[in-house]
Amino acid sequence: MQEFDSIIIGSGQAAPSLAVGLARRGDRVALIEGDRLGGTCVNTGCTPTKTLRKSARVAHLARRAADFAVTTGQIEVDFPAAMERMRARSDAAREGLTCWLEGTEGISLVHGWGRFDGREDDGRFRVMVGDQVLLARQVYLNTGTRPFLPPVEGIDTVNPLDNAGLLALTERPDHLIVVGGSYIGLEFGQIFRRLGSQVTILHRADRLAEREDAEVSGIIADIMRDEGIDLRLNATLASVGKSMRGVLVTLGDGSEVSGSHILFATGRVPNTDGLNLASVGLSVDKRGYIATDAQLKTEVPGIWALGDINRRGAFTHTSYHDHEIVLAHRDGLTDLHQWQGADARVTTYAMFTDPPLGRVGLTRAEAQTLVAKGQRILISDMPMERVSRAKEEGETIGLIRLIVDAESERFLGATVFGFAGDEIISTLTNYMATGASYRIMQQALPVHPTVAEFLPTILAGLKPLEAVDG
Ligand SMILES: Cc1cc2nc3c(=O)[nH]c(=O)nc-3n(C[C@H](O)[C@H](O)[C@H](O)COP(=O)(O)OP(=O)(O)OC[C@H]3O[C@@H](n4cnc5c(N)ncnc54)[C@H](O)[C@@H]3O)c2cc1C
Repeated sequence: MQEFDSIIIGSGQAAPSLAVGLARRGDRVALIEGDRLGGTCVNTGCTPTKTLRKSARVAHLARRAADFAVTTGQIEVDFPAAMERMRARSDAAREGLTCWLEGTEGISLVHGWGRFDGREDDGRFRVMVGDQVLLARQVYLNTGTRPFLPPVEGIDTVNPLDNAGLLALTERPDHLIVVGGSYIGLEFGQIFRRLGSQVTILHRADRLAEREDAEVSGIIADIMRDEGIDLRLNATLASVGKSMRGVLVTLGDGSEVSGSHILFATGRVPNTDGLNLASVGLSVDKRGYIATDAQLKTEVPGIWALGDINRRGAFTHTSYHDHEIVLAHRDGLTDLHQWQGADARVTTYAMFTDPPLGRVGLTRAEAQTLVAKGQRILISDMPMERVSRAKEEGETIGLIRLIVDAESERFLGATVFGFAGDEIISTLTNYMATGASYRIMQQALPVHPTVAEFLPTILAGLKPLEAVDG
């Protein structure tokens, strides 16, 4: 039996900093991880995909070299080497994390799958890892999600890849079928196309990434098609099976798609089913997520849920921010607005297609529903092809959209889809955190020539948003 002040189950994107933060505050901390330290982001998510994206982007720019008056020979991608570069980056990130945790006094790393086993008579939680029993008064869950494979007829007969399986390949797929045209599927589809695979994306809705505004979905579809990706919208899967080439997919309309590999990017499910939560009286919703209050406390005092499993974000930055909220509350720093709780934060993320999509707050469609309820909202759009820096870069695809509240003059949302959109969006996210009027941004002095220098110009074009498209 080992005694701790705090146990963290799962080394997701909140866990390492939380472990160090708790240890520095004097806690004896156990951090339990069943797989590789660093969780999805470091091993099979953000870090490897963004590393591989770079190889794909370089290949793409090399193919476009003539646009920039540069002569190249035949462009070839060394696929195994690109995958190796990606793995080396992930390994380095994980090793850095491991050294940090191992070098911090007060943290015990425990390898294995953690699960609750009720409570001691004195109220401490019992957590089992194999045969080991760990006790603590505080337990933080950061167990993340895993890929969801839809129950399609024949799926067991093919070798369905998920993000981890795809990233483990050492040979380039001849023809990758991607099921799912949302963020992860689109990123992978474009990357593998640029690395030299044929790619077909099957998406069940009538437009890609349908949580985004329709114009954005339309631009993404144009980008994918222009790069030679075969895009099938309104595509439902009737069955999958083996074929001479590898995989044969039969769609709901009877048409067939064959390829060498199939990736399912069809959503994720929370890793809460193996935690034996019932033994401590903790319930989950019907999809397996754990409800928390804004401070990320669950219904059971002494247990917190951080990261994707609390459904308050599905990103590395939201999971990381969760640990800041928990530590801020432990320290009594409740006057800091952003750390008051997860309810106060504004949704922000990027989709790392090329060009990238940066997003914060409301889409236009979401803003329109507020207009329909009587709120006065202003909007202004600018196509990237009017932005000088984008022209100079030869990367003019996309648009910038700014949405503000007419009364308070605060930003409600922004879309920066185009060159450097993943970076520029943080200008707006950070600005929104201040709650300042958009007029102050209009008076600021941006650097020339940058995409962001157009923000004041776009704000000058703000017009009332109608409840429906006019
Ligand atoms: C392909 C892909 C690309 C992505 N790209 C981005 C991106 O660019 N930017 C971004 O912000 N987000 C991205 N994400 C999402 C991001 O990876 C997650 O939102 C992020 O990792 C936060 O997850 P988490 O902290 O909840 O836990 P995770 O990072 O999922 O880690 C949970 C850990 O808990 C462990 N675990 C689970 N159960 C137990 C148990 N019982 N005992 C012990 N250990 C356990 C797991 O093995 C895992 O290591 C991407 C995701 C994928 C799949």
